[in-house]
Amino acid sequence: MITEQRSKYLSDSVQSIQPSGIRRFFDLASSMENVISLGVGEPDFVTPWNVIEASYHSLEQGYTAYTANAGLLELRKEISRYMRRRFGVTYSAENEMVVTVGASQAIDIALRAVVNPGEEVIVVEPSFVSYAPTVTLAGGVPVQVQTYSENDFKLQPEHIEEAVTEKTKAILLCSPNNPTGTVLSKTDLQKIAEVVEKHDLLVISDEIYAELTYDEPYTSFPSVGKMKERTILISGFSKAFAMTGWRLGFACGPKDVLQAMLKIHQYTMMCAPTMAQHAALDALVNGQKDVIRMKESYRQRRSLVTHALEEMGLSCHTPGGAFYVFPSIKNTGLSSEEFAEQLLMKEQVAVVPGSVFGESGEGHIRCSYATSIAKLEEAMKRIKRFIENRETA
Ligand code: PMP
Repeated sequence: MITEQRSKYLSDSVQSIQPSGIRRFFDLASSMENVISLGVGEPDFVTPWNVIEASYHSLEQGYTAYTANAGLLELRKEISRYMRRRFGVTYSAENEMVVTVGASQAIDIALRAVVNPGEEVIVVEPSFVSYAPTVTLAGGVPVQVQTYSENDFKLQPEHIEEAVTEKTKAILLCSPNNPTGTVLSKTDLQKIAEVVEKHDLLVISDEIYAELTYDEPYTSFPSVGKMKERTILISGFSKAFAMTGWRLGFACGPKDVLQAMLKIHQYTMMCAPTMAQHAALDALVNGQKDVIRMKESYRQRRSLVTHALEEMGLSCHTPGGAFYVFPSIKNTGLSSEEFAEQLLMKEQVAVVPGSVFGESGEGHIRCSYATSIAKLEEAMKRIKRFIENRETA
């Protein structure tokens, strides 16, 4: 009853979105004992010590006030150098960049800056759970385009063509992808760029996992052809630098778009947390060795998990990046929800059902391998036992 009474006060857009499907499992898992979680999408590392110290040090020096709305200029300059050095893309610290509260806020203000009511934004599924709801909250209409395991979950340009209408404004890309771990190569991106150009689309390219690629050099979307002028690049410190709790990200892109995003940021957020910005500055200046150390550890764990899953008959393309594997569970005859729920109840392993990431995620589960080798080995044993017990039941 209360819900009904209340709903008249709520906006249509907020009522049309659902709470994240990931959370339900984790609330359930957290109420149980002896659970190994392969569920959460965050590094198991603690933020490197020098980064933590840089933040302490900034507080000791009395840097406790707001920064410039766009973020500390020193940090923006360092982001600019970092992006050029690591990914070959050049952005002005003065007017083509804004430091945000996580990549999440960068995605939100990007969408709010560009989407008019009713305009369509293509979301490539399986996708990070926030994209479609954030499009809706910005007044837009998410249009889902599917990718499939047969193509290693790579976006096929002809599928973009099929989804484009006269209302299409933008496409959200994510490489390396959450949840599939798929990395789009330079050639893949070039083909996507052709369609983007043909239909005059804007691209929001979420490159938060760009540092975590294992097999080929990374290509940043704005470095392809003339894409820089129509791309909003989203990134942040959460994943590569193990800084999820610091809530720090950034967006780079064409000056007019970034200045529009800055207006929203100015009125709704003021600035990203000051002590986190000082920490991030240190992460960029001194942190590359830590990124490499963590990445090597993920690479080792990727190999352990993909081999173990393949051996127990859960086929799984080798994910080129991020820290997720997305095996097929189709041969168990269970839906991804049933698989995840029964695995949790019977063997106390938490994974995320692929269906929460979109239609083509069904038949898969997402396992994060950002957890200790010992826990991963135990989790693999339990999943194997779960499958064997089902087969013999
Ligand atoms: N994009 C993707 C693809 C992600 O997986 C995540 C975090 N799970 C985010 C953005 C949000 O990152 P942040 O912590 O910087 O808000």
